[in-house]
Amino acid sequence: MTTIDDYLNNWLRDAHAAEEQAETMLSTASDRLKDYPDLANRIRQHQDETTNQRKLLEECLERRGTSTSTTKDLMAKTSAMFQDMGKAMAGDEVVKTVLFSYAFEQMEIASYRILVTAAEAAGDQQTRSVCERILQEEIAMADWLQQHSDAITRQFLSREADTTARSARA
Ligand code: MG
Ligand code: FE
Repeated sequence: MTTIDDYLNNWLRDAHAAEEQAETMLSTASDRLKDYPDLANRIRQHQDETTNQRKLLEECLERRGTSTSTTKDLMAKTSAMFQDMGKAMAGDEVVKTVLFSYAFEQMEIASYRILVTAAEAAGDQQTRSVCERILQEEIAMADWLQQHSDAITRQFLSREADTTARSARA
């Protein structure tokens, strides 16, 4: 029989695997965005938050007497897919980074909301408050991306137009 505690442990492990993937994803992205310093800085900040989130989840799992999983779960696979798609993008990777990061943050938001409820149901207040805190960081990152998406897209498109005009003159 699968208990509430089992479900909570499984979902914490899923979240942990996703954060591990996110660390790789964010570090790859921030390295590639030198022409977009605001985005690169925000991503670097979230990279630090993500590393901390991964450690907090490890502490939760340890406290609950279970360990992290080595098998890749659905979320981890999804983020690996984002990464491969990012690599395949020539030129417009900044726009794809905004797109995939926003989608990923939304997935994290959904996942931590579920974890908050499950931790509450399991009576694990410490895990609940950790997941609440992480949830706020994911919401803040998603909000930032949403607020900056227009400007980044315009910046990208006007740079592309400049490049096209310059090569037409040459
Ligand atoms: Mg996260
Ligand atoms: Fe995140």
